[in-house]
Amino acid sequence: MQTETLIIIGSGPAGLTAALYAARANLNPLVIAGNQIGGQIAITSDVENFPGFDNILGPDLTEKMKAQAEKFGARIEYDEVTEVDFTHGRPFRLKTYSQEYEAQAVIVATGASAKRLGVPGEDALIGRGVSDCATCDGFFFKGKHVLVVGGGDSAVQEGLFLTKFANRVRIIHRRDALRAGETLKARAAANDKIQVVYNTVLDRIEGNGKVQRVQVRSVTTGSVETWETDGVFVFIGHFPNSQLFQGQLAMDAQGFLLVDKYMQTSVPGVFAAGEIMDPIYKQAISSAGQGCQAALAAERYLEALEAQQLAAR
Ligand code: NAP
Repeated sequence: MQTETLIIIGSGPAGLTAALYAARANLNPLVIAGNQIGGQIAITSDVENFPGFDNILGPDLTEKMKAQAEKFGARIEYDEVTEVDFTHGRPFRLKTYSQEYEAQAVIVATGASAKRLGVPGEDALIGRGVSDCATCDGFFFKGKHVLVVGGGDSAVQEGLFLTKFANRVRIIHRRDALRAGETLKARAAANDKIQVVYNTVLDRIEGNGKVQRVQVRSVTTGSVETWETDGVFVFIGHFPNSQLFQGQLAMDAQGFLLVDKYMQTSVPGVFAAGEIMDPIYKQAISSAGQGCQAALAAERYLEALEAQQLAAR
């Protein structure tokens, strides 16, 4: 059993910012990062709205956040938390694939994962033309035709990124207007390689070992068409990674952890930050801010705990 003061679960902007603040407060935090550092931002292409960076690639921003947290003493473990016990009070217990831990305080920053469409062919063709990561897979579509599903910032931003490789990017959206912000919408409208097809849903993905065609349906007329395509990129939002905390921490019907104004969950000493608790803003910068708040709150909590323990002696 490894004993820690503060464990941070997750290594996106929320987790790494919490690590930076906690390290600077001499809390010697341990970040359990998952298998890959960075969360969603690490698979994002251009980040243009993180203050101080005009334009930075998501993986580069992640690397900078990690280096800055480590510079002040944060430790990073590449492992996954498989079990937690928050219900029996302090010390909180956590298990990963390789270790068991006890901690006086925990910050949960496990973020959110990409939603799937749930249509026939999607699961079978993942990694064979179906993807949710343009930065990871865009290169494989040089000179090809790809389809992007979704109408939010991710769909448009990653669709624009894909035009660096693909000859044609068709964004299909189930409504008659994109949800994405104005800057991105204007860029998409000005890009000859992008075509936005409205009021359309994807019903099926087909191909022999790789994506070859899709079946789409108009939600206004009900008409069905088959389109040839080389790839399908799905950007239809995310769900919070809170399965691990079912029955341990209070959450809403969508699975977002409930926190008070000090970022504290339903268990005192367990805090949460980022997309695991934020159903509204979901930006790299808002997650970073929540990570900062959670670390400051954890610091105050641990200080009060120490004062209590001293007084009891
Ligand atoms: P999002 O804003 O939740 O948008 C998801 C899109 O997918 C919506 O247009 C939605 O349609 C559509 N959709 C959902 N389920 C669907 C389904 N089953 N079939 C077809 N379409 C479906 O998700 P996001 O674009 O990933 O963005 C998440 C958050 O990150 C947002 O807060 C966004 O602002 C932020 N973000 C920001 C940037 C940036 O600032 N540059 C970049 C990326 C992400 P409806 O419109 O009908 O709901």
